[in-house]
Amino acid sequence: MVADNEPYSWMHQSHPAGFSIDVLEKVANLADLTFEYRVGSWPEVYAAFLRGEVDVIDEISWSEERAKSMLFTEPYHYRNTVVMQDSNRPLDYVQSIDHLRPYRIGILKDVYYSPLLYNQNLELVEYELLPNLVRALAFGWVDAIIGPDVTLQFLAQRAGFRHLDIAGVLALEGVELEDFRLAVLKDKSELHAKLEKALQSIEPEWLADLTVRWQEYGGKHLPLQTSFQLSQPEIDYIRQLGPVRVGLMRDYAPFSFLDGGSVQGLSVDILKRIQDLTGLQVIPVVDQWSNLIDWLEAGELDVLANMSFSEERQTIARFSDSYYIIPNVLFSKDLDWRYTDPSDLKGLRVAIGAGIFYEQALRDIIGDSLFTYMDQASMFNALANNHVDAVIAALPNGNHWVSQLRMTGVYVAGELILEDFVGEDLRFGVKPSLAPLADILNKTLNAITPIEQSTIQNRWLGSQSGMSYSSKQPLENLSEEELAYLSGLDKTIRICVHHNQMPLEAINQKGHLIGVSSSVVEHLSQRLDLRIELFPMRSRSASLRALSEGGCDAIPMLSGIERIENIALTRAYYSLPAVILGRIEVPFINSLNELSNQRVGVLDGFVAFDSLVSRYPNVTFVSIETEADGLRQLQSGNLNAFISSLPTASHTLQELGIADIRVIGRVPFDWNFTMAVQRDNEILLGILQKFVDSLTDEDRLDIENVWRTVKLEESMDWSWIWRILTIAVLIVLMLAYWNRRLGALNAKLALANEKLAYLSVTDELTGLGNRAFFDHEYGRLHQLAVRQNQGVMVAMLDVDHFKRVNDTFGHAAGDHCLQFLAASIKQVFKRDTDYVARYGGEEFVIFTLIDSSQNIYSRCESLRQLIEASKYEFEGQMIAFTVSIGLHVYCPQVSSDPEHAMRLADTALYKAKSEGRNRVVMIDTEQKEI
Ligand code: GH3
Ligand code: MG
Ligand code: MG
Repeated sequence: MVADNEPYSWMHQSHPAGFSIDVLEKVANLADLTFEYRVGSWPEVYAAFLRGEVDVIDEISWSEERAKSMLFTEPYHYRNTVVMQDSNRPLDYVQSIDHLRPYRIGILKDVYYSPLLYNQNLELVEYELLPNLVRALAFGWVDAIIGPDVTLQFLAQRAGFRHLDIAGVLALEGVELEDFRLAVLKDKSELHAKLEKALQSIEPEWLADLTVRWQEYGGKHLPLQTSFQLSQPEIDYIRQLGPVRVGLMRDYAPFSFLDGGSVQGLSVDILKRIQDLTGLQVIPVVDQWSNLIDWLEAGELDVLANMSFSEERQTIARFSDSYYIIPNVLFSKDLDWRYTDPSDLKGLRVAIGAGIFYEQALRDIIGDSLFTYMDQASMFNALANNHVDAVIAALPNGNHWVSQLRMTGVYVAGELILEDFVGEDLRFGVKPSLAPLADILNKTLNAITPIEQSTIQNRWLGSQSGMSYSSKQPLENLSEEELAYLSGLDKTIRICVHHNQMPLEAINQKGHLIGVSSSVVEHLSQRLDLRIELFPMRSRSASLRALSEGGCDAIPMLSGIERIENIALTRAYYSLPAVILGRIEVPFINSLNELSNQRVGVLDGFVAFDSLVSRYPNVTFVSIETEADGLRQLQSGNLNAFISSLPTASHTLQELGIADIRVIGRVPFDWNFTMAVQRDNEILLGILQKFVDSLTDEDRLDIENVWRTVKLEESMDWSWIWRILTIAVLIVLMLAYWNRRLGALNAKLALANEKLAYLSVTDELTGLGNRAFFDHEYGRLHQLAVRQNQGVMVAMLDVDHFKRVNDTFGHAAGDHCLQFLAASIKQVFKRDTDYVARYGGEEFVIFTLIDSSQNIYSRCESLRQLIEASKYEFEGQMIAFTVSIGLHVYCPQVSSDPEHAMRLADTALYKAKSEGRNRVVMIDTEQKEI
């Protein structure tokens, strides 16, 4: 085996790894052989093979010369030569080398086809190593690169360059294809036969799946659904832990950032997935890095969601495995400057984010000319204003800010590669005292399937368009009869499609087919060399009726039918994993059995409806016509759960702007799609079957890329928006005029109203809010917290032995004490999000959103201490008193009852009293003291 041919074969932690190794191991298994690997460079391995020191050689291409002394197996893999582009600036490239002429093209030095390219007068830039080639494209030094497809995609994927994609296969007079085979010397024909037999018995799907695994997911296995389950002690641990405070950076787009008041990004999605899988409750603490890391160290944060590993940090956090690796690069305004190693930074002023893990390493090299910045925006502003010469930042973050700040003339000069670091690795850091949580997070992280991870990554970092590069040659194996049929069609095939069923298919304003099926139909059109005539239909049943009545020739994407009169189906060519959706407050479920006696909607066309009914007899399944209907019924509580597919449901959720629905489980069935024709049209059925069978793995990926990237903009009609805007402006102008006239009067009215409102909710003695204020504001805060996914603290405070105060010093003194107490509470709880009300008598209630690093318990405790330490003077007498506080902290859900939380705070207060007064007691949802 060749030692340095990633992703085909290389040594990973002193074990052979890679695509070819996976194939070899499969062959060994099937042929009942055991392989020992001899590792070396290709010349070494090849020479050893020729000398007879190894029995089999791998990754070898057939040649006439070699065939004289060797026996080859059939190829198990073809390596394509492709053009890779940056999807942010796609090429106009179609197929021929000619189309590449306007661009600067990177190639591998001395690659065997380079003479061919030089002959074409292309502008070529040579790179020594494949990873450098990929980097050159990622950083914009060239417009495109040419290289082997699986390898380029693997390298791009591993380096975190989600914006690179394949523009097309390069047609190079046949040399673009390299065959991968096994070979033995001629005298080993028995071994050859064994190997060949084993290779032949490997299913093509397995190989196709393996290819995708290596080019897209770094070789990981691709289970569609996770069989993840926490153990009982883990579930108990999570439950007793209650809400945990998770730190998220507020300006670390696209990983985590604030957008319209809520925090979003890749790390947030990963965190949500973990919440789905574990039921962990999270209070997001959104702030800048330097604060978050301090708070984690002080124990005020439980988890930090995006933290890079370093030795020193192990003392303040337990790290999970990394869930993403980001390349760190140097941005500069000097087009010609190239960074290769840290000595290139000497004499330059360099900006980095404060507290970043490589700060010390860099400071050792460039000393005082290293500048740290608290946030990303000011760092890039410094570059714009020439205060620094270079900025070091993660590539996606930097790109985000360069475009956000509309900076022009900023270039990537190179990648910061530090010893022992591949890039910036994003991990969860958990405070050391929560060690079991760290283990649970890690376990869960590893249970998120590669496909889910890749979907999340595509969402935040992905290339916008997946250009197809599948073989678009005409379908080859058609019979005479089939060819005759096609030519009789007058070069046009009529297909029925759903007019509005995104992201699967729909007709846009321009009358074009969009959605997943559009990519299938496009392939069909090209491979059969037919024009497509579209017949938009209002529903699936309308399509079926039209088809059976001869209104169209075929339906390209159909699901949910096993046997129906007059209609014949191809085999399924595409499937989507089915998921169970539920309201946001519903816990994650492991099996549909947990939904016994509940109403579960199933999207019409979901093929397994009957199987569901027979398999889960206790669940009430309801057929639902449209995705939107299902989601709305779910929202209104008419359905308890809704079975659909992730891409279709998330599309509709986005479109309807619904935020309180989430995935709560999986269904062990896939949602399969086939093509349909009239039953007696056996010829067309045969043709479509051949077409479906010919779909390659790339085609399928292509299809998938469509739904991953379907954008809502499609439905925007700008002319309408302008019309509406114009009308809106007119209305605003008119209102402004009337307002000026009414202004004076309004101001007086408003003042009066304000005063009235103030009086009705204010307690006269203390100036705090009264009971009515509490009732109103507490409910409102609770709702706000539900929407923003934040935590709420509610605390009841009662003066200890207040009767004695009254009895000893008189009622007036008591009143003054209450005023003094009110002022003291306000002094400790004075933030915008803190509310204090007099609940009645000498009882007060404090409630607040928990949205920063405040340690709520210690704030209450400091209030208690403040009162205990104070002596209040009234008419020459010194009065001292103490208070008891009961508090409850929780993450409100849509369904949770604010009054219930209030009662728990009261229970806590009761405990504080019975345990001896002058103390703070905090209890969790289970009424356990914390
Ligand atoms: P503890 O709460 O520690 O069990 O003892 P306590 O003595 O405070 O008992 P309790 O809460 O039952 O009594 C509350 C007393 O507070 C009753 C009443 O005399 C006094 N109080 C209630 N409202 C006011 C007020 O507005 N002004 C004054 N001066 N006293 C009040
Ligand atoms: Mg009382
Ligand atoms: Mg009292």
